[in-house]
Amino acid sequence: MSLEDIKARIEAAEGKAGRALGSVQLIAVSKVQPNERVEAVLQEGHRCFGENRVQEAAGKWPDFAKQFSGLDLHLIGPLQTNKARQAMELFDVIHSVDRPKLAKTLARLAQEIGNCPDLFIQVNTGAEEQKAGILPQDTDAFIAECRALDLPVQGLMCIPPVEEPAVEHFALLAEMADRNGLDGLSMGMSSDFEEAIAMGATHVRVGSAIFGARAYAQG
Ligand SMILES: *Cc1c(COP(=O)(O)O)cnc(C)c1O
Repeated sequence: MSLEDIKARIEAAEGKAGRALGSVQLIAVSKVQPNERVEAVLQEGHRCFGENRVQEAAGKWPDFAKQFSGLDLHLIGPLQTNKARQAMELFDVIHSVDRPKLAKTLARLAQEIGNCPDLFIQVNTGAEEQKAGILPQDTDAFIAECRALDLPVQGLMCIPPVEEPAVEHFALLAEMADRNGLDGLSMGMSSDFEEAIAMGATHVRVGSAIFGARAYAQG
């Protein structure tokens, strides 16, 4: 696969779902990928990338930013409160807001910095113990809490359990976003982004299908 192939598949899925072409944003997930692969995708003109670790992103994106303008960086992995400031300075969008303590920290820092990335609330739709995300039954209240803190919540994000049909989780996430008046849906990865688009995804996070397999497995 290549960037062009993935973009064509996204367009086809948009068309099939009766959605406007270009309505789905492709986040190229560059975590763990060698810099030359990332640079090749930058050279093709793509600017929207996802990373799941603040430290790793801080080590490579400031250098790319000197060469390529208009970068749009998304944090898609868990965020510790002690890295929140660094994450807010580095990323345009954070997809992993998942607990009150983090929400409060982001709100305080947004006041201090005078700026806040767009935010997605991560929902643990499968209620998996090892996985980050707010539980489905706590999601409505947490969205309200984030709004009360004046946080710019754009939508919801999920990572479905590997052993279950992703489409059920996409449907659940879409329903929760809809009843809370949220437009953004960050869902769908290399193996299921077309299904996610059919269910209303606005942001798909695609890594290995663009860059090739990662050199080592990462959670
Ligand atoms: C790594 C990762 C992806 C991309 O996974 P692929 O299967 O390589 O497309 C998407 N979302 C999150 C949260 C990830 O950590």
